[in-house]
Amino acid sequence: MSLEQTEKAFLDYLKEQNAYREAITLIQWDLRTKVPKKGVEQRSEVVGYLSQKLHQMQVSDKIKEFIDELKGKSTNEIIEKSILECEETYEKNRKIPETEFKEYVMLQSKGEAVWQEARDKADFAMFQPYLEKLVEYNKKFASYWGYKENIYDALLHNYEPGVTVKTLDEVFPKVRSSLSELLQKIETSSIRPNTELLHTHFPKKGQKDLSIEILNRMGYDWDAGRLDDTIHPFEITVNLNDVRITTRYDEQDFRMAVFGIIHEAGHALYEQNIDKKLEGTPLASGTSMGIHESQSLFWENFLGRNKIFWESHYDLFKKYAPSHFENVSLTDFYQAVNEVKPSFIRIEADELTYPLHIMVRYELEKALINGEIEVRDLPQLWNEKMEEYLGIKPQSDREGVLQDIHWAGGDFGYFPSYALGYMYAAQFEHKMLETVNIDQVIRSGDFSPIRQWMTNNIHQYGKMKKPLDILNDVTGEGLNPDYLIRYLTTKYQDIYQF
Ligand code: ZN
Repeated sequence: MSLEQTEKAFLDYLKEQNAYREAITLIQWDLRTKVPKKGVEQRSEVVGYLSQKLHQMQVSDKIKEFIDELKGKSTNEIIEKSILECEETYEKNRKIPETEFKEYVMLQSKGEAVWQEARDKADFAMFQPYLEKLVEYNKKFASYWGYKENIYDALLHNYEPGVTVKTLDEVFPKVRSSLSELLQKIETSSIRPNTELLHTHFPKKGQKDLSIEILNRMGYDWDAGRLDDTIHPFEITVNLNDVRITTRYDEQDFRMAVFGIIHEAGHALYEQNIDKKLEGTPLASGTSMGIHESQSLFWENFLGRNKIFWESHYDLFKKYAPSHFENVSLTDFYQAVNEVKPSFIRIEADELTYPLHIMVRYELEKALINGEIEVRDLPQLWNEKMEEYLGIKPQSDREGVLQDIHWAGGDFGYFPSYALGYMYAAQFEHKMLETVNIDQVIRSGDFSPIRQWMTNNIHQYGKMKKPLDILNDVTGEGLNPDYLIRYLTTKYQDIYQF
């Protein structure tokens, strides 16, 4: 076969893989939004079957042949980078013995089910043996995959390639001490936001209509997406022309849906604006968890909780909100949606204390994977760290170590991406300000210049660029926490008047 013929055959093989991937994704969306209760079991089996097929193709002799024949030879950049992606997946999966892989997949689903029950009962002991096995498997896999300095690096690589323990251990303490300082100042401030006013009954229809108007201004493409109800909100990409978002409405607290929708739409804009030339290849997706989170957090916090945004959108808000809000001043409202208060649950945390929640998890999982602490000691260590970092101590494991699903599914090395995304977002904002008058754009109600900037600099590339390459190409520097610290300091100085 000529080089062109091999390339064509490779692209066809990718298309076949992609057909499985698209079917799996659509079923996953259905499982989390629409499926009737009795249909779940059979549907889950179908997902299992299709996933196995896809996995077989990713580690097949055929893909290995394509890698050997095409690597370093193609003049087409998309094919070359696709080959590298396929090679990474191939190597990663082939290094794990098949029996171990199967055992692990079963352990993951069992682990999640047991975790669910253990969390409901606040009974860590019940979950402990499963978590011990999950940690052991992850240590084993990390050693198969290999690493240079710290075993945890091998796991970080799965979510944020290029970022290492060395980097995080330099950056996180810096962020932590600045946040602690800010937190102290806030705690001694005389400003006490009244959040009671946010709990006014706000019917679902109004919340939805308001959110749709905001989505329109953001430039979410309704011809390539849709919005549905769910329990745990998410964004999901079926393909680049079918990027869906979901939300949950709480009629006593509109923040869940309104800020949640802005957040998920931030993820969706990234996927909708990836260059369509990448469709059908493994490059047609956001490049990393961290860069993805930089997009959602930018829209949710940097814009959605921004003072100018509420100054210029408060009338829009009142148009859909119950009449009770007529009497709420903009200042009271703005302070309330930006209240800082240490709390136990990560996903309910405010902008300032959120990164501290991530650092608690990072410190613990790094120590677990390095064998420095034991799973059985986690509840106590968790509570101690919460007290040290946030000044509060959980009363039960439900609001402590058992709150997140990540470890139950074997996702170690994932948590840092949330904090990284936040730092990236601040770095991008700083750079964007050189050419875009963000305040003016927000006032105009048409956010396309911001979306366009993100598309030109980040979205279009999909996985053609690695996360730290994007960061470097856009900002001219590596990971730098100073921008986030500056952003938070300026914001809370203004709100809490210190
Ligand atoms: Zn997110």
